[in-house]
Order: sequence, then C-alpha cells, then structure tokens
Amino acid sequence: MPTNPFRKQIPDTMVETNNKNIEITFWGTRGTLPVSGKPFARTGGSTNCIEVTCGDHTIIIDAGTGIRELGSKLVANKPKQKTHLLLTHAHYDHVEGIPFFAPFFMEDNDINIVCGNLDGARNTKELIKNLMKPPYFPVGPEVFMANIQYNTIEENAVFNISDDIRIITAPLNHPGGSTAYRIEYSGKSYTCITDTEHVVGKQDENVLKLIDNTDLFSYDCSLLDAEMDDFQGYGHSTFEEGMRLANTAGAKAMLASHHMPFRNDDDLDHIEKAMAKQNPEFKVAREGMKIIL
Ligand SMILES: [Zn+2]
Ligand SMILES: [Zn+2]
Repeated sequence: MPTNPFRKQIPDTMVETNNKNIEITFWGTRGTLPVSGKPFARTGGSTNCIEVTCGDHTIIIDAGTGIRELGSKLVANKPKQKTHLLLTHAHYDHVEGIPFFAPFFMEDNDINIVCGNLDGARNTKELIKNLMKPPYFPVGPEVFMANIQYNTIEENAVFNISDDIRIITAPLNHPGGSTAYRIEYSGKSYTCITDTEHVVGKQDENVLKLIDNTDLFSYDCSLLDAEMDDFQGYGHSTFEEGMRLANTAGAKAMLASHHMPFRNDDDLDHIEKAMAKQNPEFKVAREGMKIIL
C-alpha cells in the first residue's frame, strides 16, 4: 500500500470504534477498468470502492474490485458491524466486486444495499440478480448467507441510517444516471461525486449544493479539460472542473478520483502538482489512502 500523504494518518490499531470522526479509506480509485503493473503501483489498480466509518457503522460507497480486499478486512476485524453498501450506479466498474465481498457469505451479518438509477431493473434486488446470472456469472445471489436488505431510492433521496448519520443524495449527469452521496456525521461531512459529465462553462447546481461547505469531497476526475471534446457523452468530468466547483461551493478539500486506465502514476503526479498550485488540499485519491475528518 502506498503511503498516504493526505492529512492525519493512523494505523488500524489506533482507531477507536466509537469515536466521533468520519474515517474514509479508499480501496479502489480506478474508473472504467481495473489495471495492474508497475506504472500503476503507487496509485493502485482496483476500481471504485470507498469505506466510510462513522462510529459503529461501516458505509461502503460502490463495489468495484477494491471491495474484495475490504471484505477480507471486515471479516477478519469486525464480523458483525452494521454495514451499508451505497451504490452510485450499476456500471461494471462500480459493482463487479459484489460477488466477491466476503461479508455476504457470513450468516447473521446484516447488510443494507442501497441503489437508485436502476436503468431497466425493477428494484435493487433485481439489479443484483441480473449481475449474477449466466452467461455472465456461474451462481446467483442465493449463495449469499448474510441478511441482506435491498433498498431502492428515488432521485434526491435524503435518509438517516442511524440517529446521527444522515445521507443526502443528488442525481448526476451520467448515461443511465448516477447518485452522489453526502454523508453527515458529528458536524462533519464527506461527499462522493462519481460518475458525472459537466457542461462546459456551466457549473452543475446539484453538485454545488451537495458539496456546499463540505469538509472533503472526491470527484470524478477521469478526464482533463483538454480531453472533453473527445469524450462527450461518456459521462465524465475533469480535475479542473472539480477545482472550479470546490471554489464556488467553499468545499474545504478535494480528492481527484475515478482515474482512467490509461492514466499512470506519473500522469497522476502531474495532475496533483497542477492542483496543488491552486490549493494544497486538492490531491489525488490513491488506493490505501486513509483520511480522518
Ligand atoms: Zn465509473
Ligand atoms: Zn458509470
């Protein structure tokens, strides 16, 4: 795992389970497709998966390939915590780790799956069934042994997952739709904005509202402004747009995420340097990064 240069860093052994911090760990920051090999080693090659711990609740945003390793950790450390899997949408890079998430195979484990943007499926349960069936996959979700609750949310849904953890959502501009999540706990907030395409020259009001004054947000920085013409309609944005949005909304820190498979460590170092010129709190999200708010 690479060293996290961002903010405070503490080893797992020092984390108190009932503290009032929001703890965010990136288990996958790649978009579109996993990658491997030396050119990607410092940033990591797993697709989107973010663990957000608030007290004794574990909230996971997206089930890209990074969720496999997270699942192994959860089973080894805390087999029966309250787990919530919030899916932004069902594109492969955000769900392909679902069949390999170890907590699904533990009896008496309560897991709450939340998704909107069903794009043809009737509900979240059917969406998972469609993902795990021949000819794409050998077995269906009936192999899971955990108590799984499937929840389908509407656009702009706001809900609490406990008395003191509030989730605010907003729709994003992506083929088939995508949901942005803002997690509020103990007077702090982390916001995840992926995947979304911005309209050049017009800041997205939904995003501005959701990241307003947030302590940290991660943003779909798949592209560069200079690449937008070539990728119109693919549903992605740029680090430059992320910085513009952060400045307008007064967001305190930003992490560039959803890195394209063709973007190697050196490319991402260049992006990080360009962002740091404007604000040292704008950085690149890398696998293994842990942030405490
Ligand atoms: Zn994606
Ligand atoms: Zn997508």
